[in-house]
Amino acid sequence: MMTDFPQALSIAGSDSSGGAGMQADLKTMQERHVYAATVLVAITAQNTLGVQDSVPLPAKIINEQFTSIADDLAIKACKTGMLADSEHVSIVVENLKKYDFGPLIVDPVMVAKGGATLLTEDAVITIKENLIPLATVVTPNIPEAEVLTDLTINSKEDMIMAGQKIKALGAKNVIIKGGHQASADTASDFVLLENGHSFWLSSKRIDTIRTHGTGDTLSACIAAELAKGVDVETAIITAKKYVEATITDGIIVGHGHGPLNHWA
Ligand code: PLP
Repeated sequence: MMTDFPQALSIAGSDSSGGAGMQADLKTMQERHVYAATVLVAITAQNTLGVQDSVPLPAKIINEQFTSIADDLAIKACKTGMLADSEHVSIVVENLKKYDFGPLIVDPVMVAKGGATLLTEDAVITIKENLIPLATVVTPNIPEAEVLTDLTINSKEDMIMAGQKIKALGAKNVIIKGGHQASADTASDFVLLENGHSFWLSSKRIDTIRTHGTGDTLSACIAAELAKGVDVETAIITAKKYVEATITDGIIVGHGHGPLNHWA
């Protein structure tokens, strides 16, 4: 029996179709051989065609989930995904300050690929001022980086500038995910590390609509690797490769924007 098994925590919203959100986090952490616990913040009714409805959970049960986990488990790293609105971001921030769950990965989830809003506009300021300063790694895609920095991102230079601006908000390490750059034939992510070192991580663009949950999977994989004690740079490189493998070996589920293959 293993005793010091690494444990990680996903603080996120659920995706009823099982492809993104908390379900993607659980599958990823499990696949990375890390035990996964969860604090559910919101519930979405969604499938591969879109998000049909969503509801944030009451503060009381969110606080209680944090306390239950802190009282019993030994969480070594955590991540945030969909946080719904400003009030819910604040609840999460308070709990992250109260309990030690190790390094924090902030995936600043705002809009689903189908266009549904997963974070109200008023929450952006709370994320910038209160959540990002707690983050070991922040993982925005280009539209999210634009919202966080008020920049328009059209080039690699813009991505570098956005990375620096997000680091200036208090994040230790930043990855700007380049997958949303429509013209490029490679998906290049810009990585800016705590020590100032920066580099690009590129993978071949895969022509598929089965990319539902890529952002969740990347941040969950980084959290899982950090829970094992891996350093941040290696965790980021491993996560990029893992996401690429889950897209490459995609499976057909549903009639739309399908999920990744988590046993890739
Ligand atoms: N649903 C939930 C609950 C999520 O947390 C996310 C992303 O974080 C999504 C949907 C969006 O997934 P995608 O944009 O990959 O379709």
